[in-house]
Amino acid sequence: MGKVLIIGAGGVGTVVAHKVAQNPDVFTEIMIASRTKSKCDAVVKAIGNPNIKTAQVDADSVDELVALFNSFKPEIVINVALPYQDLTIMEACLKTGVNYLDTANYEPKDVAHFEYSWQWAYKKRFEDAGLTAILGCGFDPGVSGIYTAYAAKHHFDEIQYLDIVDCNAGNHHKAFATNFNPEINIREITQNGRYYENGQWVTTQPLEIHKDLTYPNIGPRDSYLLYHEELESLVKNFPTIKRARFWMTFGQEYLTHLRVIQNIGMARIDEVEYNGMKIVPLQFLKAVLPNPQDLGENYEGETSIGCRIRGLKDGKERTYYVYNNCSHQEAYKETGMQGVSYTTGVPAMIGAMMFLKGLWKKPGVWNVEEFNPDPFMEQLNKQGLPWHEVIDGDLEV
Ligand code: NDP
Repeated sequence: MGKVLIIGAGGVGTVVAHKVAQNPDVFTEIMIASRTKSKCDAVVKAIGNPNIKTAQVDADSVDELVALFNSFKPEIVINVALPYQDLTIMEACLKTGVNYLDTANYEPKDVAHFEYSWQWAYKKRFEDAGLTAILGCGFDPGVSGIYTAYAAKHHFDEIQYLDIVDCNAGNHHKAFATNFNPEINIREITQNGRYYENGQWVTTQPLEIHKDLTYPNIGPRDSYLLYHEELESLVKNFPTIKRARFWMTFGQEYLTHLRVIQNIGMARIDEVEYNGMKIVPLQFLKAVLPNPQDLGENYEGETSIGCRIRGLKDGKERTYYVYNNCSHQEAYKETGMQGVSYTTGVPAMIGAMMFLKGLWKKPGVWNVEEFNPDPFMEQLNKQGLPWHEVIDGDLEV
Protein backbone atom coordinates (compact mmCIF):
# COMPACT_ATOMS: atom_id res chain seq x y z
CA MET A 1 0.00 0.00 0.00
CA GLY A 2 2.78 2.48 0.79
CA LYS A 3 6.39 3.42 1.30
CA VAL A 4 7.44 4.56 4.75
CA LEU A 5 10.60 6.23 6.01
CA ILE A 6 11.37 5.98 9.73
CA ILE A 7 13.81 8.62 11.05
CA GLY A 8 15.54 7.72 14.34
CA ALA A 9 16.90 4.34 15.38
CA GLY A 10 16.57 4.67 19.16
CA GLY A 11 14.21 2.76 21.45
CA VAL A 12 11.06 4.07 19.78
CA GLY A 13 12.45 3.79 16.22
CA THR A 14 13.32 0.14 16.86
CA VAL A 15 9.74 -0.63 17.93
CA VAL A 16 8.28 1.28 14.96
CA ALA A 17 10.50 -0.70 12.59
CA HIS A 18 9.40 -4.03 14.10
CA LYS A 19 5.71 -3.12 13.96
CA VAL A 20 5.87 -1.70 10.43
CA ALA A 21 7.60 -4.91 9.29
CA GLN A 22 4.79 -6.94 10.92
CA ASN A 23 2.25 -5.23 8.64
CA PRO A 24 3.54 -5.85 5.10
CA ASP A 25 0.07 -5.48 3.56
CA VAL A 26 0.15 -1.79 4.53
CA PHE A 27 3.87 -0.96 4.51
CA THR A 28 5.19 -2.32 1.24
CA GLU A 29 8.61 -0.64 1.34
CA ILE A 30 10.47 0.42 4.47
CA MET A 31 13.57 2.49 5.15
CA ILE A 32 15.06 3.40 8.52
CA ALA A 33 17.46 6.36 8.57
CA SER A 34 19.28 7.95 11.47
CA ARG A 35 22.40 9.83 12.48
CA THR A 36 24.28 6.57 13.08
CA LYS A 37 23.67 4.12 10.23
CA SER A 38 25.11 1.15 12.13
CA LYS A 39 22.18 1.43 14.58
CA CYS A 40 19.73 1.20 11.65
CA ASP A 41 21.56 -1.85 10.32
CA ALA A 42 21.41 -3.49 13.76
CA VAL A 43 17.62 -2.94 13.88
CA VAL A 44 17.21 -4.54 10.45
CA LYS A 45 19.35 -7.48 11.51
CA ALA A 46 17.25 -7.98 14.64
CA ILE A 47 14.06 -7.95 12.56
CA GLY A 48 15.62 -10.35 10.06
CA ASN A 49 14.10 -8.74 6.97
CA PRO A 50 16.84 -7.81 4.50
CA ASN A 51 14.38 -5.86 2.34
CA ILE A 52 14.30 -3.00 4.86
CA LYS A 53 16.67 -0.29 3.61
CA THR A 54 18.87 1.83 5.84
CA ALA A 55 20.52 5.23 5.43
CA GLN A 56 22.56 7.81 7.31
CA VAL A 57 21.01 11.25 7.68
CA ASP A 58 21.55 14.31 9.82
CA ALA A 59 17.96 15.35 10.43
CA ASP A 60 19.10 18.83 11.54
CA SER A 61 19.94 19.48 7.87
CA VAL A 62 17.00 20.19 5.56
CA ASP A 63 19.27 19.67 2.52
CA GLU A 64 20.33 16.18 3.63
CA LEU A 65 16.71 15.26 4.34
CA VAL A 66 15.56 16.57 0.96
CA ALA A 67 18.22 14.50 -0.82
CA LEU A 68 17.16 11.38 1.11
CA PHE A 69 13.42 11.95 0.51
CA ASN A 70 14.03 12.53 -3.20
CA SER A 71 15.98 9.33 -3.55
CA PHE A 72 13.67 7.02 -1.52
CA LYS A 73 10.40 8.86 -2.31
CA PRO A 74 8.42 7.83 0.81
CA GLU A 75 4.72 8.61 1.10
CA ILE A 76 5.04 9.30 4.80
CA VAL A 77 7.87 9.95 7.24
CA ILE A 78 7.60 8.68 10.82
CA ASN A 79 9.76 11.07 12.82
CA VAL A 80 11.02 9.31 15.93
CA ALA A 81 14.31 11.19 16.19
CA LEU A 82 14.31 13.95 18.83
CA PRO A 83 11.85 16.86 19.14
CA TYR A 84 14.64 19.23 18.02
CA GLN A 85 14.34 17.81 14.49
CA ASP A 86 10.57 18.28 14.02
CA LEU A 87 10.76 21.52 12.05
CA THR A 88 13.62 20.55 9.73
CA ILE A 89 11.79 17.32 8.87
CA MET A 90 8.52 19.20 8.28
CA GLU A 91 10.37 21.66 6.00
CA ALA A 92 11.88 18.80 4.02
CA CYS A 93 8.43 17.18 3.71
CA LEU A 94 7.04 20.39 2.20
CA LYS A 95 9.93 20.66 -0.24
CA THR A 96 9.50 17.09 -1.48
CA GLY A 97 5.76 16.39 -1.17
CA VAL A 98 5.96 13.88 1.70
CA ASN A 99 3.44 13.42 4.53
CA TYR A 100 4.55 13.65 8.16
CA LEU A 101 3.97 12.04 11.57
CA ASP A 102 5.75 12.53 14.92
CA THR A 103 5.41 11.63 18.61
CA ALA A 104 6.65 14.76 20.40
CA ASN A 105 6.24 18.49 19.81
CA TYR A 106 9.08 20.71 18.67
CA GLU A 107 11.42 22.02 21.35
CA PRO A 108 14.22 24.49 20.82
CA LYS A 109 17.51 23.05 22.13
CA ASP A 110 18.31 26.02 24.37
CA VAL A 111 14.96 26.33 26.26
CA ALA A 112 12.90 23.50 27.69
CA HIS A 113 9.62 24.80 26.36
CA PHE A 114 6.72 22.71 25.16
CA GLU A 115 4.10 24.20 22.89
CA TYR A 116 2.55 23.44 19.54
CA SER A 117 2.73 26.98 18.14
CA TRP A 118 5.83 26.31 16.03
CA GLN A 119 4.27 23.29 14.36
CA TRP A 120 0.72 24.65 14.13
CA ALA A 121 2.25 27.56 12.17
CA TYR A 122 2.82 25.07 9.31
CA LYS A 123 -0.92 24.36 8.91
CA LYS A 124 -1.56 26.54 5.85
CA ARG A 125 1.59 25.37 4.07
CA PHE A 126 0.67 21.70 4.51
CA GLU A 127 -2.91 22.47 3.44
CA ASP A 128 -1.75 24.28 0.30
CA ALA A 129 0.62 21.43 -0.53
CA GLY A 130 -2.16 18.84 -0.07
CA LEU A 131 -0.07 17.08 2.58
CA THR A 132 -1.08 15.62 5.95
CA ALA A 133 0.96 16.18 9.13
CA ILE A 134 -0.09 14.13 12.18
CA LEU A 135 1.34 15.51 15.44
CA GLY A 136 1.96 13.69 18.69
CA CYS A 137 1.11 10.10 17.74
CA GLY A 138 2.86 8.15 20.52
CA PHE A 139 1.08 7.09 23.73
CA ASP A 140 1.02 10.36 25.62
CA PRO A 141 0.75 12.45 23.53
CA GLY A 142 -1.04 10.15 21.15
CA VAL A 143 -3.28 7.44 22.53
CA SER A 144 -4.24 9.83 25.39
CA GLY A 145 -5.80 12.14 22.75
CA ILE A 146 -7.40 9.26 20.85
CA TYR A 147 -8.92 7.89 24.08
CA THR A 148 -10.34 11.37 24.75
CA ALA A 149 -11.78 11.62 21.24
CA TYR A 150 -13.27 8.13 21.57
CA ALA A 151 -14.83 9.05 24.93
CA ALA A 152 -16.29 12.24 23.45
CA LYS A 153 -17.71 10.36 20.49
CA HIS A 154 -19.21 7.36 22.28
CA HIS A 155 -19.64 8.08 25.99
CA PHE A 156 -20.28 11.78 26.61
CA ASP A 157 -22.33 14.69 25.38
CA GLU A 158 -19.92 16.96 27.24
CA ILE A 159 -16.47 16.20 28.64
CA GLN A 160 -15.82 18.41 31.66
CA TYR A 161 -12.88 16.99 33.62
CA LEU A 162 -9.94 15.13 32.09
CA ASP A 163 -7.08 13.53 34.02
CA ILE A 164 -4.43 11.67 32.03
CA VAL A 165 -2.72 9.18 34.34
CA ASP A 166 0.63 7.61 33.46
CA CYS A 167 2.09 4.93 35.71
CA ASN A 168 5.28 3.02 35.15
CA ALA A 169 5.33 0.29 37.79
CA GLY A 170 8.27 -1.43 36.14
CA ASN A 171 11.61 -2.20 37.76
CA HIS A 172 14.76 -2.14 35.61
CA HIS A 173 17.08 -2.90 38.55
CA LYS A 174 19.26 0.19 37.93
CA ALA A 175 19.78 2.84 40.60
CA PHE A 176 18.78 5.55 38.13
CA ALA A 177 17.79 5.41 34.47
CA THR A 178 15.24 7.15 32.27
CA ASN A 179 12.84 5.22 30.08
CA PHE A 180 13.34 7.32 27.00
CA ASN A 181 15.97 9.78 25.86
CA PRO A 182 17.35 11.09 29.21
CA GLU A 183 17.91 14.62 27.95
CA ILE A 184 14.31 15.00 26.75
CA ASN A 185 12.95 13.20 29.82
CA ILE A 186 14.79 15.28 32.44
CA ARG A 187 13.95 18.54 30.61
CA GLU A 188 10.27 17.56 30.80
CA ILE A 189 10.18 16.60 34.47
CA THR A 190 12.23 19.45 35.92
CA GLN A 191 10.09 22.23 34.44
CA ASN A 192 7.17 23.83 36.29
CA GLY A 193 3.93 21.88 36.53
CA ARG A 194 0.90 23.32 34.76
CA TYR A 195 -2.76 22.43 34.42
CA TYR A 196 -5.84 23.96 32.88
CA GLU A 197 -8.79 25.15 34.94
CA ASN A 198 -11.77 27.33 34.00
CA GLY A 199 -10.14 28.77 30.90
CA GLN A 200 -6.77 29.48 32.50
CA TRP A 201 -3.43 27.77 32.94
CA VAL A 202 -2.35 27.32 36.55
CA THR A 203 1.40 26.99 37.16
CA THR A 204 2.90 24.97 40.03
CA GLN A 205 6.41 24.35 41.24
CA PRO A 206 8.01 21.27 39.63
CA LEU A 207 6.43 18.12 41.16
CA GLU A 208 4.67 20.25 43.83
CA ILE A 209 1.27 18.52 43.64
CA HIS A 210 1.01 14.77 44.10
CA LYS A 211 -1.45 12.17 45.34
CA ASP A 212 -1.88 8.42 45.48
CA LEU A 213 -3.79 7.04 42.51
CA THR A 214 -4.72 3.37 42.13
CA TYR A 215 -3.73 1.74 38.86
CA PRO A 216 -5.34 -1.49 37.58
CA ASN A 217 -3.35 -4.64 38.33
CA ILE A 218 -0.72 -2.45 40.07
CA GLY A 219 -2.28 -0.74 43.09
CA PRO A 220 -1.71 2.71 44.58
CA ARG A 221 1.26 4.79 43.37
CA ASP A 222 2.30 8.33 44.23
CA SER A 223 1.42 10.36 41.12
CA TYR A 224 2.78 13.84 40.35
CA LEU A 225 1.11 16.62 38.42
CA LEU A 226 3.23 17.61 35.39
CA TYR A 227 2.66 19.75 32.36
CA HIS A 228 2.32 17.56 29.29
CA GLU A 229 2.00 18.80 25.75
CA GLU A 230 -1.30 17.13 24.79
CA LEU A 231 -3.15 19.25 27.36
CA GLU A 232 -2.68 22.26 25.05
CA SER A 233 -4.38 20.69 22.03
CA LEU A 234 -7.03 18.80 24.01
CA VAL A 235 -8.47 21.87 25.75
CA LYS A 236 -8.54 23.63 22.38
CA ASN A 237 -10.22 20.74 20.56
CA PHE A 238 -12.67 19.93 23.38
CA PRO A 239 -13.73 23.39 24.60
CA THR A 240 -16.24 22.01 27.13
CA ILE A 241 -13.31 20.85 29.29
CA LYS A 242 -13.29 22.76 32.59
CA ARG A 243 -10.15 21.15 33.99
CA ALA A 244 -7.39 19.09 32.37
CA ARG A 245 -4.42 17.64 34.22
CA PHE A 246 -1.64 15.13 33.66
CA TRP A 247 -0.21 12.81 36.33
CA MET A 248 2.88 10.61 36.25
CA THR A 249 4.24 8.22 38.87
CA PHE A 250 7.78 8.44 40.22
CA GLY A 251 9.48 6.36 42.89
CA GLN A 252 11.32 8.02 45.79
CA GLU A 253 14.67 6.67 44.57
CA TYR A 254 14.17 8.27 41.16
CA LEU A 255 13.19 11.61 42.71
CA THR A 256 16.17 11.61 45.06
CA HIS A 257 18.56 11.07 42.14
CA LEU A 258 16.80 13.75 40.15
CA ARG A 259 17.13 16.24 43.01
CA VAL A 260 20.84 15.55 43.29
CA ILE A 261 21.31 15.85 39.52
CA GLN A 262 19.64 19.27 39.63
CA ASN A 263 21.42 20.46 42.77
CA ILE A 264 24.86 19.71 41.37
CA GLY A 265 24.06 21.43 38.06
CA MET A 266 23.98 18.32 35.87
CA ALA A 267 20.47 19.13 34.56
CA ARG A 268 21.71 22.43 33.06
CA ILE A 269 21.06 22.86 29.35
CA ASP A 270 23.36 25.83 28.82
CA GLU A 271 26.97 25.39 27.70
CA VAL A 272 29.79 25.31 30.23
CA GLU A 273 33.53 25.48 29.60
CA TYR A 274 35.28 22.18 30.32
CA ASN A 275 38.93 21.46 29.53
CA GLY A 276 38.98 24.03 26.75
CA MET A 277 35.75 22.91 25.15
CA LYS A 278 32.08 23.70 25.57
CA ILE A 279 29.77 20.98 26.90
CA VAL A 280 26.12 20.94 27.94
CA PRO A 281 25.94 19.19 31.35
CA LEU A 282 22.65 17.40 30.60
CA GLN A 283 24.05 16.05 27.32
CA PHE A 284 27.15 14.84 29.15
CA LEU A 285 24.95 13.17 31.76
CA LYS A 286 23.13 11.31 28.96
CA ALA A 287 26.44 9.85 27.87
CA VAL A 288 27.06 8.24 31.28
CA LEU A 289 23.51 7.14 32.18
CA PRO A 290 22.20 3.72 31.15
CA ASN A 291 20.96 3.70 27.58
CA PRO A 292 17.13 3.36 27.68
CA GLN A 293 17.42 0.81 24.87
CA ASP A 294 19.44 -1.51 27.11
CA LEU A 295 16.91 -1.61 29.95
CA GLY A 296 14.58 -4.15 28.37
CA GLU A 297 16.24 -7.42 29.27
CA ASN A 298 15.80 -7.19 33.04
CA TYR A 299 12.76 -4.95 33.10
CA GLU A 300 9.86 -6.42 35.09
CA GLY A 301 6.37 -5.10 35.73
CA GLU A 302 3.93 -3.04 33.72
CA THR A 303 3.02 0.42 32.57
CA SER A 304 -0.57 1.61 32.91
CA ILE A 305 -1.62 4.73 31.03
CA GLY A 306 -5.15 6.01 30.64
CA CYS A 307 -7.68 8.81 30.73
CA ARG A 308 -10.04 9.42 33.62
CA ILE A 309 -12.92 11.53 32.42
CA ARG A 310 -15.98 13.07 34.07
CA GLY A 311 -18.78 14.76 32.18
CA LEU A 312 -22.40 14.61 31.11
CA LYS A 313 -24.33 12.00 29.16
CA ASP A 314 -28.08 12.41 28.61
CA GLY A 315 -28.15 15.08 31.32
CA LYS A 316 -26.56 12.83 33.94
CA GLU A 317 -23.05 12.79 35.35
CA ARG A 318 -20.90 9.98 34.05
CA THR A 319 -17.34 8.84 34.71
CA TYR A 320 -15.21 6.90 32.27
CA TYR A 321 -11.73 5.40 32.62
CA VAL A 322 -10.02 3.94 29.56
CA TYR A 323 -6.53 2.50 29.86
CA ASN A 324 -3.90 0.09 28.63
CA ASN A 325 -1.48 -1.97 30.72
CA CYS A 326 1.69 -3.00 28.95
CA SER A 327 4.20 -5.57 30.24
CA HIS A 328 7.86 -4.62 29.85
CA GLN A 329 8.83 -8.27 29.42
CA GLU A 330 6.26 -8.93 26.69
CA ALA A 331 7.41 -5.80 24.85
CA TYR A 332 11.01 -6.95 25.15
CA LYS A 333 10.23 -10.44 23.87
CA GLU A 334 8.54 -9.01 20.79
CA THR A 335 10.85 -6.12 19.90
CA GLY A 336 13.93 -6.20 22.16
CA MET A 337 12.77 -2.90 23.74
CA GLN A 338 11.05 -2.06 27.05
CA GLY A 339 7.44 -1.02 27.52
CA VAL A 340 7.89 2.76 27.28
CA SER A 341 9.45 2.50 23.81
CA TYR A 342 6.79 -0.07 22.88
CA THR A 343 3.83 2.03 23.98
CA THR A 344 5.21 4.93 21.91
CA GLY A 345 6.27 3.00 18.80
CA VAL A 346 3.08 0.97 18.30
CA PRO A 347 0.79 4.05 18.05
CA ALA A 348 3.27 5.77 15.70
CA MET A 349 3.03 2.77 13.36
CA ILE A 350 -0.79 2.73 13.64
CA GLY A 351 -0.95 6.46 12.81
CA ALA A 352 1.06 5.88 9.63
CA MET A 353 -1.21 2.91 8.85
CA MET A 354 -4.30 5.14 9.28
CA PHE A 355 -2.78 7.59 6.81
CA LEU A 356 -1.80 4.98 4.22
CA LYS A 357 -5.25 3.36 4.42
CA GLY A 358 -6.74 6.78 3.64
CA LEU A 359 -8.59 6.90 6.99
CA TRP A 360 -6.56 9.77 8.44
CA LYS A 361 -5.73 11.72 5.33
CA LYS A 362 -6.55 15.43 5.29
CA PRO A 363 -4.29 18.25 4.17
CA GLY A 364 -3.05 20.40 7.05
CA VAL A 365 -1.40 19.95 10.44
CA TRP A 366 -3.48 18.03 12.96
CA ASN A 367 -3.34 16.62 16.46
CA VAL A 368 -4.49 13.03 16.71
CA GLU A 369 -7.81 13.80 18.44
CA GLU A 370 -8.92 15.64 15.30
CA PHE A 371 -9.22 12.35 13.39
CA ASN A 372 -11.78 9.52 13.69
CA PRO A 373 -10.64 7.51 16.74
CA ASP A 374 -12.58 4.31 15.89
CA PRO A 375 -10.26 2.60 13.37
CA PHE A 376 -7.25 3.53 15.53
CA MET A 377 -8.87 2.04 18.66
CA GLU A 378 -9.58 -1.13 16.69
CA GLN A 379 -5.93 -1.41 15.66
CA LEU A 380 -4.67 -0.83 19.23
CA ASN A 381 -6.41 -4.09 20.17
CA LYS A 382 -4.81 -5.92 17.24
CA GLN A 383 -1.30 -4.49 17.41
CA GLY A 384 -0.36 -5.19 21.03
CA LEU A 385 -1.91 -2.39 23.11
CA PRO A 386 -5.39 -3.62 24.08
CA TRP A 387 -7.52 -1.19 26.07
CA HIS A 388 -10.09 -1.60 28.80
CA GLU A 389 -12.85 0.65 30.07
CA VAL A 390 -14.58 1.27 33.40
CA ILE A 391 -17.87 3.15 33.28
CA ASP A 392 -19.16 5.04 36.34
CA GLY A 393 -16.33 3.84 38.59
CA ASP A 394 -14.51 5.96 41.22
CA LEU A 395 -11.97 8.13 39.35
CA GLU A 396 -10.16 9.25 42.55
CA VAL A 397 -9.37 12.62 40.95
P1 NDP B 1 16.53 7.80 21.58
O1 NDP B 1 17.47 8.81 22.11
O2 NDP B 1 16.62 6.38 22.01
O3 NDP B 1 16.56 7.81 19.97
C1 NDP B 1 16.62 8.97 19.20
C2 NDP B 1 17.17 8.58 17.85
O4 NDP B 1 17.19 9.75 17.03
C3 NDP B 1 18.60 8.04 17.90
O5 NDP B 1 18.72 6.96 17.02
C4 NDP B 1 19.41 9.24 17.43
O6 NDP B 1 20.60 8.94 16.75
C5 NDP B 1 18.46 9.86 16.43
N1 NDP B 1 18.81 11.24 16.20
C6 NDP B 1 19.05 12.22 17.13
N2 NDP B 1 19.42 13.35 16.51
C7 NDP B 1 19.42 13.09 15.19
C8 NDP B 1 19.72 13.85 14.03
N3 NDP B 1 20.10 15.13 14.11
N4 NDP B 1 19.63 13.25 12.83
C9 NDP B 1 19.25 11.95 12.71
N5 NDP B 1 18.95 11.18 13.76
C10 NDP B 1 19.04 11.75 14.98
O7 NDP B 1 15.06 8.37 21.90
P2 NDP B 1 13.71 7.53 22.01
O8 NDP B 1 13.65 6.51 20.93
O9 NDP B 1 13.50 7.15 23.42
O10 NDP B 1 12.62 8.67 21.69
C11 NDP B 1 12.36 9.07 20.35
C12 NDP B 1 11.27 10.14 20.32
O11 NDP B 1 10.08 9.63 20.91
C13 NDP B 1 11.62 11.40 21.12
O12 NDP B 1 11.23 12.51 20.36
C14 NDP B 1 10.76 11.30 22.35
O13 NDP B 1 10.41 12.58 22.84
C15 NDP B 1 9.55 10.61 21.78
N6 NDP B 1 8.74 9.92 22.81
C16 NDP B 1 7.38 10.11 22.78
C17 NDP B 1 6.58 9.49 23.72
C18 NDP B 1 5.09 9.57 23.60
O14 NDP B 1 4.40 8.80 24.27
N7 NDP B 1 4.52 10.42 22.79
C19 NDP B 1 7.15 8.68 24.81
C20 NDP B 1 8.57 8.46 24.70
C21 NDP B 1 9.33 9.10 23.74
P3 NDP B 1 21.94 8.43 17.55
O15 NDP B 1 21.63 6.99 17.80
O16 NDP B 1 23.04 8.65 16.61
O17 NDP B 1 22.02 9.25 18.79
